[in-house]
Amino acid sequence: MNIHEYQGKEILREYGVAVPRGKVAFSVEEAVEAAKELGSPVTVVKVQIHAGGRGKAGGVKVAKSLDEVEKFAREILGKTLVTHQTGPEGKVVKRLLIEEGSRIKKEYYVGLVVDRQSGRVVMMASEEGGMEIEEVAAKTPEKIFRETIDPLVGLLPFQARRLAYAINIPKELNSKAVKFMMGLYRVFEEKDCSVAEINPLVVTEEGEVIALDAKLNFDDNALYRHPEIQKLRDLDEEDPKEIEASKFDLSYIALDGNIGCMVNGAGLAMSTMDIIKFYGGEPANFLDVGGGASKEKVTEAFKIILSDEKVKGIYVNIFGGIMKCDVIAEGVVAAAREVGLDKPLVVRLEGTNVELGKKILNESGLNIVAAESMADGAEKIVNLVK
Ligand code: ADP
Ligand code: MG
Repeated sequence: MNIHEYQGKEILREYGVAVPRGKVAFSVEEAVEAAKELGSPVTVVKVQIHAGGRGKAGGVKVAKSLDEVEKFAREILGKTLVTHQTGPEGKVVKRLLIEEGSRIKKEYYVGLVVDRQSGRVVMMASEEGGMEIEEVAAKTPEKIFRETIDPLVGLLPFQARRLAYAINIPKELNSKAVKFMMGLYRVFEEKDCSVAEINPLVVTEEGEVIALDAKLNFDDNALYRHPEIQKLRDLDEEDPKEIEASKFDLSYIALDGNIGCMVNGAGLAMSTMDIIKFYGGEPANFLDVGGGASKEKVTEAFKIILSDEKVKGIYVNIFGGIMKCDVIAEGVVAAAREVGLDKPLVVRLEGTNVELGKKILNESGLNIVAAESMADGAEKIVNLVK
């Protein structure tokens, strides 16, 4: 789960990680009020959406007066901001962070991620702050420094010091940088983050080490023990189809293509997407209905797939292992009847009770194309949507 920058900064503040003073605003009036309260000579008006790249897209504005705060707030609230992370459709701006402007001396990068290779949390740091870390990694990988963290003892002060030294934080600010990094690690660990990225971390003219941006992502599997984080969820920022799917415990990710996929098992779902691409098609989604999908779940999955207007056809690819093919076939038929299917549907079934399953599909009277194999089904659906 993802949260907004201002929410991330509130959590950081609780852990003693330095962030600028600031307040969220949902309207122009609130924005001006917040700026008045801050009373700082320079105020920064920052669009709050679940995407980065706001600075370059005009979503971060520096205001020198209350009038400017009002002007920027009026200009941007309710508008759609397109950044390279939002996709071309952009995101509607509903919240602003009104923040004290910092006098930046230099921007750095500090991030925590889970490194799957070592199975440990890694802290990364770079002198190239403000730029995207992916770009730094591609162009100047030698400018990224890493410390692998032992889960038993956590980030050790000498590791943080070593990073601060490597990225050339002024020596006299080393202890502030260490405090910052230790606090950030505590947040990551105690809140079950999957990503904690501070880009930029800045050193100010006044000699402060402070987070100007904050991106915190949380491990969904650990959310049950963080009701305080769950409360921060902003459904406006999520795909409605994905929200619907999560209610029914379906793993669904919307994609850009036009072939809706309904598959059981994440591995089979991945290879189904691959084989559709192999035959020249584009999947509209990733969908894993799970190992023991019921008729109800299959119906919901169908509705979600069909609510995507990009979908021109559906490919159901099910391997009946624990699940029986006849149960799936009944689910597919019921769902197709209930939602009034008017698009090509190709079904490939394999496994337990496959003959019975095929019989149910054939006798349903529905316009269902049966596939002999996974490849056959992929080829058929690709041709049907063309
Ligand atoms: P994004 O990563 O979405 O572009 P950031 O929060 O990183 O948004 O802001 C972009 C840039 O705006 C920063 O690199 C920094 O230079 C500037 N900026 C952001 N917040 C402040 C602030 N409080 N004071 C001064 N400059 C800021
Ligand atoms: Mg940033």
